[in-house]
Amino acid sequence: MAIDTPATILIIGAGPLGLETALYARYLGYDVIVCEAGDVGSHVQQWEHVEMFSPFSMNASPLGIAAIESHDPDHQFPSNQQCTTGGQWLQQYLIPLSQTDLVRKHIRTNCRVLSVSRTWKQKTDLDTDLDQDSREATREQDPFRIIVDEQGTQHALTADVVIDTSGVLANPNPIGAGGVPAPGEQQAGHGISYSIPSPDDLGQFRGKRVAVVGSGHSATTALLMLTEANALVTWITRQTNEHAISPIEQDPLPLRSQITSQLKELVDRKAIQTLTNIAIDEIKTSDNAEIELGVYQTGTEDELTLEWHSFDHVIGLTGYRPDLAIFRELQIHQCYATEGPIKLAASLLTQSSDDCLKVEQGERELLINPELNFYVLGMKSYGRKSGFLFQTGLQQIVQLFQILGDRETLDVYATFQKPQDG
Ligand SMILES: Cc1cc2nc3c(=O)[nH]c(=O)nc-3n(C[C@H](O)[C@H](O)[C@H](O)COP(=O)(O)OP(=O)(O)OC[C@H]3O[C@@H](n4cnc5c(N)ncnc54)[C@H](O)[C@@H]3O)c2cc1C
Repeated sequence: MAIDTPATILIIGAGPLGLETALYARYLGYDVIVCEAGDVGSHVQQWEHVEMFSPFSMNASPLGIAAIESHDPDHQFPSNQQCTTGGQWLQQYLIPLSQTDLVRKHIRTNCRVLSVSRTWKQKTDLDTDLDQDSREATREQDPFRIIVDEQGTQHALTADVVIDTSGVLANPNPIGAGGVPAPGEQQAGHGISYSIPSPDDLGQFRGKRVAVVGSGHSATTALLMLTEANALVTWITRQTNEHAISPIEQDPLPLRSQITSQLKELVDRKAIQTLTNIAIDEIKTSDNAEIELGVYQTGTEDELTLEWHSFDHVIGLTGYRPDLAIFRELQIHQCYATEGPIKLAASLLTQSSDDCLKVEQGERELLINPELNFYVLGMKSYGRKSGFLFQTGLQQIVQLFQILGDRETLDVYATFQKPQDG
């Protein structure tokens, strides 16, 4: 059933996808409330010093460009080919987007969404339980009730549609074996961090023994930065070989291929020590603040023995997981493996490519949940799975509004010219 304007759409998070969704919805005439826990683009701020591997042409929508240009005709965008840092993306595109006339007044910063439920219905109320003759409203007719903590005060908001674009970066995975915090991990305090170090942090690691746990592009970036900063770097992974991250053949994203090749070269010439096949069993913090990792090296024929390795600091970059508590009272069907909404997750799990550029978003129906009019978009829609790209999110936005408007061919982006190289 189409959701006619002016229905109220509440968007959780003013990250890249929350902002683009808000702009698209406003352009179509919906009422919009964007609740952002911190400032606009808080999560991108966390990696503002990291160079993106997708060029700017992939990191902006034609509607976003047009809205910024009409707000400020002199605005300078990065060139289409430029691989900006997260910070440049924020300053030159995302923040200007948030200040355009269509969205500015609709964003509430320091407004954290604590929960989303229906107003009268409980999670256990199934529409199929209803007597056909009953006049009781269906779940879909029952408005969403959203509890927020806004500037320190809790209150409730109401909406017809809720779109969760709150990302996953706030919930890094622990480094312990099996994906649970190892005994001692939560007590290690500042001895373990879970983000790519900033240039300001790097100085303190010079000459120090630093372990990086993980085998994705964030771990690669951290390993390169730490080696450059003359730290004594150990790379710890669950993977079976010391080239856990391999360059993609004829990679169309040169920066991505460059960092994986650089890492391979550092490993080959032993500038980085590697510990492969590792499960972290226990963590101790010594009196002189050393972090000791008690690890098992699996996959060997020898009997497993616990070995201890000492570091001055440990960085865990083993991925992220979605916060499911927000929508616990809704009927959301999640994937048992990735914790993403099941339909999209099932489609993603059948696609085995290492290259996120080759992952297909699939049909728009993949976005539909049992809880009608509640959608998860953006990085959170992939659950624990990595490889989400901003441009995939733009496809999701087009599909979502085709569903909401019940108009199969609706595509606002197609009506705006693609951004030209500036
Ligand atoms: C180091 C790094 C490099 C990357 N490089 C690229 C790249 O080159 N190309 C690319 O396409 N993608 C890249 N990505 C992925 C990138 O993060 C996404 O494409 C994009 O940022 C996802 O946007 P999002 O809006 O889905 O989530 P986020 O950016 O995570 O935004 C979510 C927002 O929701 C807010 N929020 C969270 N919880 C709540 C709550 N309860 N209530 C209210 N607000 C809340 C957060 O504060 C945040 O502002 C990279 C990611 C990382 C970590």
